[in-house]
Amino acid sequence: MLRILIIEDEKSVRDFLAHSLEEKGHKIFMAIAGNEGLQKAIETRPDLIVLDLGLPDISGIEVLQKIRTWSPVPIIILTANSDDKEKIKALDIGADDYLTKPYNISELEARIRAVSRRVQKNEHILKIEIHSLELNLDSHLVFIKDSELHLTLTEFLILKILMMNQEKIVTHRQLLKEIWGPNSTEHTQYLRVYVGQLRKKLATFGIPSTFITTEVGIGYRLKY
Ligand code: CA
Repeated sequence: MLRILIIEDEKSVRDFLAHSLEEKGHKIFMAIAGNEGLQKAIETRPDLIVLDLGLPDISGIEVLQKIRTWSPVPIIILTANSDDKEKIKALDIGADDYLTKPYNISELEARIRAVSRRVQKNEHILKIEIHSLELNLDSHLVFIKDSELHLTLTEFLILKILMMNQEKIVTHRQLLKEIWGPNSTEHTQYLRVYVGQLRKKLATFGIPSTFITTEVGIGYRLKY
């Protein structure tokens, strides 16, 4: 059971979400505007926030920015806008995931499950395991079953960042910044090359190329 705060001005969407998530056993809190959402986030200390970007008073982006100054609470954004710029902006300032309207409720539930799995995870980890893939953060060694997978440092870092985020989308900007520093955020083509090499190496061990899924124009996400 999670305590979920829904910040959404559209009554039909809000009621539908609240009802569906309550049926799954979650405790729901609701706000119909940005400032009310901020207030409720402070009062109710939710485990997760579902945040609409188009709100009547202050924008969802502003709500997100304010919450991130004091809380790492997982935030899934809802957007009616298919404009990638807004989604990327939200992800870059700390949203955990997004859904574009119209979405179906099972898709939202899957995202909620993925987000809560990440939250329950111990933060002081030395080893990340996803299926047969094992990545050791200390020794920088990667194993598939019992065979070692030889990666360059850049390939290792890309895989590490994606694995640490499990099924969460990681933007090009986030990857570039973590690997090459803050001044290389325009070099998306580098990433494409490294991710291509990484996929090829994984494929030799039977891991499908969809394991590292391309989110066109936005970034990458592990899907398994
Ligand atoms: Ca709205």
